[in-house]
Amino acid sequence: MRLILLGPPGAGKGTQAKRLEERFGIAQISTGDMLRAEVKSGSEIGLQAKAIMERGELVSDGIITAMLARRVQQPDCTRGFILDGFPRTVPQAEALDTMLREQAMDLDHVIELAVDDAALVERIAGRFTCARCGEGYHDRFKPTAKAGTCDACGSTDFVRRADDKAETVAARLDAYHRQTAPLLPFYRAQGKLKQVDGMAEMNEVTRQIGDILGSGGTA
Ligand code: AMP
Repeated sequence: MRLILLGPPGAGKGTQAKRLEERFGIAQISTGDMLRAEVKSGSEIGLQAKAIMERGELVSDGIITAMLARRVQQPDCTRGFILDGFPRTVPQAEALDTMLREQAMDLDHVIELAVDDAALVERIAGRFTCARCGEGYHDRFKPTAKAGTCDACGSTDFVRRADDKAETVAARLDAYHRQTAPLLPFYRAQGKLKQVDGMAEMNEVTRQIGDILGSGGTA
């Protein structure tokens, strides 16, 4: 199964992608996570991407597409993958179509997590993650049970993304509307686009995605 989760930053793509990865045993591919790993390692790609990410802008299509092409060749993608944060521009989507066609593969579903912009800044600005196990939290919507301690692994070390600051979020939303939203008509025209209510409670969103994967209904 090959899926794309589409939606603005803070829509819940990462959370849902992780759940799908566990449920279906297919790889979650987050180009944002891959870029953050490149930045951390100080690689050439990381050096190029760091300032762009901090401004909330998009990294060039060439860099991202090459990175993605290498990633989907990995053995954990044989059974399929969930793309979380890719494609983000029409040229990326076209490159993906070509890449899949060359390997006689197809996309099964493109699922849009539809959300109100007004809710996103608050959702994003409160996010933090356990530095040891990666469990995600939110100051207001999902605090740790015991203040300062990870529910999942007991670590007391947490991280916040550098680009989750309120100032940067506005630029990221702008990039979404200008560069990524045109993918909605692109995939609708291919008959692949499905929509779920990204404003619903997390488990409800998971249920709606499960319904799509079970039924194949089109938006
Ligand atoms: P994310 O974790 O998906 O929100 O991505 C964080 C940042 O990484 C974005 O704001 C972009 O700067 C960069 N990025 C991630 N995926 C892409 C992509 N497919 N195309 C261009 N830039 C990307």
